[in-house]
Amino acid sequence: RDDAHDDDDDGLWTPGAARALARLESAFRVPKQKLHEIVKHFAKEMDRGLAAPNQTLKMIPSFVVNLPKGSETGTYLALDLGGSNFRVCEVTLEGAGSSGAVSNVRMRQRKYVVSDDLKTGRGTDLFDFFADCVREFLVENGIHATDPAHNELVLGFTFSFPCSQTAINKGALMHWTKGFTASGVEGQDPVQLLQDAFHRKQLRVRVASLVNDTVGTLVAHAYQDPSTHLGIILGTGTNAAYVERIDRIPKWDGPIPASGKMIVNTEWGAFDQEGVVLPLTSYDSVLDRQSAHPHLQTYEKMVSGLYLGEVMRLVLADLASTGELFRGVSSTVLTTPYSIDTALMSRIERDHSAELADVRVVLEDLISIPKTSAEDRRIVKRVAELIGTRSARLAAAGVAAIVSKINRLDDCTVAIDGSLFEHYPHYANRMRDALREIVGIAADNILLVQARDGSGQGAALIAALADA
Ligand code: BGC
Ligand code: MG
Repeated sequence: RDDAHDDDDDGLWTPGAARALARLESAFRVPKQKLHEIVKHFAKEMDRGLAAPNQTLKMIPSFVVNLPKGSETGTYLALDLGGSNFRVCEVTLEGAGSSGAVSNVRMRQRKYVVSDDLKTGRGTDLFDFFADCVREFLVENGIHATDPAHNELVLGFTFSFPCSQTAINKGALMHWTKGFTASGVEGQDPVQLLQDAFHRKQLRVRVASLVNDTVGTLVAHAYQDPSTHLGIILGTGTNAAYVERIDRIPKWDGPIPASGKMIVNTEWGAFDQEGVVLPLTSYDSVLDRQSAHPHLQTYEKMVSGLYLGEVMRLVLADLASTGELFRGVSSTVLTTPYSIDTALMSRIERDHSAELADVRVVLEDLISIPKTSAEDRRIVKRVAELIGTRSARLAAAGVAAIVSKINRLDDCTVAIDGSLFEHYPHYANRMRDALREIVGIAADNILLVQARDGSGQGAALIAALADA
């Protein structure tokens, strides 16, 4: 098994480095006892969120009350706005699940980049951009959307932000996350905003579902594996959705679905905004204060990809300023917020060469540190390990809390999507190690599986279920 902790060279540090690392280890390590405290607090906060609206954990009923049977068919559009990517997809459901065969999904898709200007500008510009992309996609693929002789197209909208929902295709954005601040969208219904934009662009497309990416991931994976009960995103942002019994959602006052179930979007990124149990460091406080959304998404800021590189940057800048790194020399890159992408941390952790040659490339060529010593590079790698491991262990605590809550410690598939889980070295193993510390051998029954591209497919499936 992969060695998640490369600390075999302990004791080879100079005294100054050893002191700096000891300080950082005690700040960033999440020992077993702490994991247990976090799980306990998680359980309490989930119950509060299920009991009443406007709690820290929003525990939003998704209005998705059925998992797909695998027999659904038809062609749907999906529009998937995540944290870094925006995709338009055409999803063809080929069914066959009920006959015992594996259900098939065919997909055509195109990715677009949402510029920072669009993220932080006017909401109408953002939604016009979405509509323009849909039009372009349809034209490229020869799909008719303006001709009244053709049926209206049906679209599932994956909108990966906290929305309180009042119907499968109706909701209100509670607040932006992940660096988005576009005006005129908070408090509004994203479905209406998108529908209006389609209208302005004369596109005959009907928005049939509003879906969080975690819900989409869960539903898409359940189309193939019915023991899937959790959908998780570990990417730019982080969040989890799971299948809950309707009688365990006291705040639900809508009709009781025949299934007796409801997928709940936890919005776990907001966990412990009060700072009761999470082991926040001084770096986390600085990051929070300087972020686009201070006091919000505390757990997300310790776990997800948008922020890990920034935590690392703050630590390195600090160590450079105390003279514990780079002989006290910093660089403009190192003092610029968000200049270290989490992908660079991945690269640093992936370097196993004796001289840490690639860490050198990252530090000297990309972060413009004039000169690094071998010990500098080993310290930097250790810092990345500490921050990356903390993220994985905190994520595992969330998983353990949900799986325990729904009593599935004997058998549960957890569908996970996102760049962090997919690309960050050792991430899954570190999560598994922490799960074992929390729930013991039951951890072996919790299957953490990579579920790629589920959020768009899921939105299409949910549009199909809503359309049926
Ligand atoms: C949002 C969630 C989303 C998650 C992953 C968070 O910032 O609040 O709604 O599921 O990011 O994309
Ligand atoms: Mg995504």
